[in-house]
This record gives sequence, structure tokens and C-alpha cells, in this order.
Amino acid sequence: MGDDVAAQPSPVARTIDLLGDRLTVAILRDAFVDHIRRFSQWIERTGAPPAVLSSRLNTLVDAGLMERRPQEGAYDRHDYLLTDLGLATWEFLVSVWTWQREWSADGLLQPELVHAGCGHRGPPELVCRVCGRRVGARDVSLEVNADSLVVAARGSRRRSTRSAPALSRADLQFTVVMEAIGDRWSALVTGFALSGVRRFSEFQSLLKVSPTTLTERLTRLCEVQVLRREEGGREYVLTPRGRALFPIFACQLAWTKVAHPDVPVEQLGPRLHHTACGSSLEPGLCCRGCGAILERTTVIFER
Ligand SMILES: [Zn+2]
Ligand SMILES: [Zn+2]
Repeated sequence: MGDDVAAQPSPVARTIDLLGDRLTVAILRDAFVDHIRRFSQWIERTGAPPAVLSSRLNTLVDAGLMERRPQEGAYDRHDYLLTDLGLATWEFLVSVWTWQREWSADGLLQPELVHAGCGHRGPPELVCRVCGRRVGARDVSLEVNADSLVVAARGSRRRSTRSAPALSRADLQFTVVMEAIGDRWSALVTGFALSGVRRFSEFQSLLKVSPTTLTERLTRLCEVQVLRREEGGREYVLTPRGRALFPIFACQLAWTKVAHPDVPVEQLGPRLHHTACGSSLEPGLCCRGCGAILERTTVIFER
């Protein structure tokens, strides 16, 4: 691996940077659920300052999740449409939605997910596409390529929700979930915790992070009740709401693979294996009503 390549964050770290942003998730959700495609509509719905919205849309276009198309009859205005790669974030979006619906105070205000195939209403569950079994955080092992993690650390920055642009009330709903997945360190700490890491020293040796930075993230994750301290403070254990973040993490890793088809898997970043069947985890979302694996086109959100 040359210096130029090593200076780039790993693909998983780039996914976390891209999708670990409240406004970006709101933009994608509006595009996916309500077919929003115009700048003015997102301004209205999110309350984001135009310059901030514009920069997020440009980032999505540059990353290949959206494309700009001239509006009919308006040479200087554009619509923003999801590309296939953008549409491929749908399982991640549904996982974020599921977590919000089940674990946030205003979850019931969220639209309801309906499986068009059978009419079942309610959140899906994560399954392994290879063997079909239900998969939770306790059913996987994490494979970590040390090089890809050192790279993950480089250039990371805190993306505090406190300094994020003020959004309308509708989007405050992503605040808690973004504490856990909204910056590279927190997301990786949460990911490792989901994979069974508990001790400060283990987190530190995996992440090669300064004790101050690590302490700050662990403390914050305890404050938002994703982790709690046990064993006289020596271990950090996931709470039930922390463990419920697993599908989001699994879908982020799976989407990373789709977004970087030419990168060898061992260079993508951390990888999950399904312990029961031994395969590399290919997550799917399964309808709790009929047991079918959900397809993007069979999912409807109803208000
Ligand atoms: Zn399996
Ligand atoms: Zn169903």
C-alpha cells in the first residue's frame, strides 16, 4: 500500500463520515420515502440553512448517491435524484428508522413501515442472507485488519450534534442515534462494543486512539445510554438500546462493499462474520409478518 493510498481514510471510515450526518440522513430519507427532489422542498422540510443544504447535496452527488438533472423549463435549476448507489442505502435508512421508532421518545410519531407483500405493519428484523437465521450483535464475530483501522483514525474529526446546523423539529429525532454513529470514533467504539469489546485497554489497542479521545467518546456514549459501566467501572457494556444499533452498523458495512466494488474486502475496514454459518455477514431485512426478505420496492412508509 503506497503512501497516497494510506493517507485516505478506509472505505468504512468514509461511509461513517458520509452517512453519520443528521442532515444527510434526513435528505436521503425524504428522497426515499417522500420522493423529494427539489432544493426548496428540503429547505422547507429540514429548516437547514441553504449553504449547508447545498454542501450536503454536493457531497451526495460527488459520492455518487445522487445525480443532478436540469429541471424542465428552468435552465439554472436542478432536481436531485437518487442513483442506484443512493437507493442502495435503503436498508441502512430503514434500520435508522427502526431504531428511532423503537428507542426514541417520539418514535411513534414516525411513519409506519408496511410490507406491501403481506400488509404487515411494523419494524423488520435483521437476518443472514446466506443461512436465513435472525442475527443480533451476539451472533457475529468481527474481523479487524489493523492497517485499515489505523487509516480509519487519520483525519477524523468530531462532528458534534451541538455544532450541527439547527434543523426543524422533525429532524431532532436523529439526535440520539447520531451521538452513536455520527462521528468516526463514536461509530467505531459502538461497532467494537457491538462485536464484544468491553475493556478500555481493548478499545485503545484496536483503535490506537489517545486515552483522552477514547474517554470522551465512552463517557458520551454512557450519557446517551448506549453503553453503561460495569465491573467496578472497568468494562463498558452495551445497554439494550445500544445493542439495538447493530442492524445500522451491519448495513453500513454492507453498503460500503456495494460502494467500493473494486476494493478487496480485507481493505474495506472491519468485517462481520455470522458465527452460526461461518459466512461473511450479508445482512437482509426480514418481514416479521410473513418471513420474506424485504426488497426496496416492497417497502412503504405510511403516516
Ligand atoms: Zn448465516
Ligand atoms: Zn411480509
